[in-house]
Amino acid sequence: MCISVAVFAPLRTTFSYLPPESDVSEKLFIGQRVWVPFGRGFRVGVVTSTNCEATPYIKLKKIAELLDTQSLLTAEIIELAEWASKYYHHPIGETLSHAFPASLRKRKKIQAPVNIDWTITGLGRKALESGELKGKRQIELMSQLASFSSMNANDFKAFNWDFSWRPVMKTLMQKNFILQRKYHSHSRVAFPNPNIGKRVNLNSEQADALEKIQKQFNGYGVKVLYGVTGSGKTEVYMELIARLLSEGKQSLVLVPEVTLTEQIVQRFKARFQGSVGVLHSQCKDSEKLDVWNGCRNGTLSVLIGTRSAIWVPMKTLGAIVVDEEHDVSYKQQEGLAYSGRDLAIKRAQIENIPVILGSATPSLETIANISSGRFEEIPINRRAKTLSEPVRELVDISKGRGDGGLGKKLIEAIGHHVSAGGQVILFLNRRGYAPLMMCRNCGTHQICRSCERHLVYHKRFNALVCHHCGEKMSVEKATNCCKSPDLFEIGIGTEQVEEKVSLLFPKLRVGRVDRDSVKNPKDLQELFRKIANREIDILIGTQMVAKGLDFSGITLVGIIDTDSRLFSVDYKSEERLAQLLTQVAGRCGRGSGQGKVLIQSRQPDNFVLNKIIYDGYRSYSSVALKERERLGMPPFSALALIKADSSIKTKADKFLICLREKLMKNSNADQVFVSYPISAFFSPKRVKYRSLMVMQCQRRVLLQGLLSEHISWIEALGRKMRVRWILDVDPEDTL
Ligand code: ADP
Ligand code: ZN
Repeated sequence: MCISVAVFAPLRTTFSYLPPESDVSEKLFIGQRVWVPFGRGFRVGVVTSTNCEATPYIKLKKIAELLDTQSLLTAEIIELAEWASKYYHHPIGETLSHAFPASLRKRKKIQAPVNIDWTITGLGRKALESGELKGKRQIELMSQLASFSSMNANDFKAFNWDFSWRPVMKTLMQKNFILQRKYHSHSRVAFPNPNIGKRVNLNSEQADALEKIQKQFNGYGVKVLYGVTGSGKTEVYMELIARLLSEGKQSLVLVPEVTLTEQIVQRFKARFQGSVGVLHSQCKDSEKLDVWNGCRNGTLSVLIGTRSAIWVPMKTLGAIVVDEEHDVSYKQQEGLAYSGRDLAIKRAQIENIPVILGSATPSLETIANISSGRFEEIPINRRAKTLSEPVRELVDISKGRGDGGLGKKLIEAIGHHVSAGGQVILFLNRRGYAPLMMCRNCGTHQICRSCERHLVYHKRFNALVCHHCGEKMSVEKATNCCKSPDLFEIGIGTEQVEEKVSLLFPKLRVGRVDRDSVKNPKDLQELFRKIANREIDILIGTQMVAKGLDFSGITLVGIIDTDSRLFSVDYKSEERLAQLLTQVAGRCGRGSGQGKVLIQSRQPDNFVLNKIIYDGYRSYSSVALKERERLGMPPFSALALIKADSSIKTKADKFLICLREKLMKNSNADQVFVSYPISAFFSPKRVKYRSLMVMQCQRRVLLQGLLSEHISWIEALGRKMRVRWILDVDPEDTL
């Protein structure tokens, strides 16, 4: 008998080892990390079986070291990883490594941290109630402590007090009003009183939705909270979480991008204080480890995180919420190409708990799942605070569209709304000044040397920039194209809109949100603060303004350009446009004023655009689903994409052509469509050249069967031809 170990390496098999030196076989657990000899060195791996059969005639090596004394994962997470490894055809060791924070993917042992918390004493309570306490800070601190059984430093940090609370605490401890306790984190389960923080009274529709969700709340089920923008979905989530807290259960909330959903995190913290953990790509490794640990041992009761949070083991998970379930960022594009939303559903099934998918614009696959009865729809059709939806209007700009992409009608509307005391959002999904610069004389337009893409003109840097790899070229250099260069700009970006708006409305205060102006969550928070305090009249931004913003002052949203999206060849791009338009439009009319949305287009008769704008997302989605069915596209078929990377174009293509031939020889070949290789439109920086091949099949099982059958063959071919490749099951992009 031996131990099988999934090594953290891109290998599809597990490896057999003997137990370590001393006989500790009973100390081995599935999910435990070990340090094992591997090749010429050592690697970290995870035990996947403690009594597998040894392969005869092979001399096994011993496990060098046990890194953990127990499994740090839950059985459910191990099952999830095994499922994901099969579904996405990804090596088990690498898949399992997702379940650990970066610092534990190395040879590092975990120590139970010593935590400190504070409780109010009887003496303290008396002092507080009798009014004997005098200092304002002391009273503030003591009244918070009085409402919770115990609090830790995180809880206090969440208050964002404008004084430092530690000295105050020290004084109060000396008076024996507060007791300090030390404990190992495993011993504390901190479920705060869920009704202390800020709370709104749900309106009748929200209350109905809450009741429907809670109806069958013990066990697996997928509920789609299909609520228009501003319908108060977040409040419903918080009520659910409060209920779970009172039952001693944890919650997991997935959000698209935490930097953009900062507002939501603040709301959760205001309600649930320090028991909220946040996890996203910008957290430090040490923070990630702390949060991971807190979730695993139960000291954190609510986890808000981006897609990778789906891998965090939780002690007593009660439900999963996936907010904005339609968002593309739930799909990982490289490596293990998983969908955080789909794994959330799978995890809920494994854990036998409910999962709530929330959106104002659910993905077409989710809507199809509602129609087939697999998911339950729970609608909220009315906004929470205002009675009316914003009025939408499609504006024809085919006959000239004025300055910086702003048509006459939009310019008038801006003036009108701002003088009536409103704020304005202008949306354009392109940063920089102009997407293209061309020489009138010789016709040259500059492209990036490494990515072969158009360089975008940024006036502020006086340079042309590749939006893909960041390479810069000075304008001066760009004018070396011919003897009498005469450069002019084509198209518009946010920088240009900002410039034109400032010229048109010199008295108004203009802000810009895009990746050039907002580098980190702090910048964004500062901008939010300014919007909330009415220090900005007009906000210009890319898709960063589409998500999550909830400001009551905004009465006008102008969408500057929609047309480029209408003609993309990707089958999902129209759905994305519908979601984006609906979401951006939803940012306005959240206060007392009537909201207005102006959508500029050169295609005012376009059927899809009219459907989205005048009939709404729900109506659009049913038309779009019929179209998908007619064309046999997902969700009425299954897709997989193979991406081949190489330094030479022909090599990547040749790899895919070999693969195509092999697949076409298969007995089920007539039921599978395999495309010829095409050049990828998007690829990560380090990749020199990427080719794609699409596989499509009416039945998922067939496609999955074909992939399972060939995966080892593909791997061998890649090694032989020195081509790196990625398999993307259910791709978000086919470009
Ligand atoms: P969604 O997540 O559906 O876009 P939110 O939960 O962000 O909506 O709610 C939109 C706004 O309405 C927020 O400012 C929220 O505080 C407020 N709100 C939600 N529900 C209520 C309610 N029942 N009473 C008063 N205000 C509410
Ligand atoms: Zn480039």
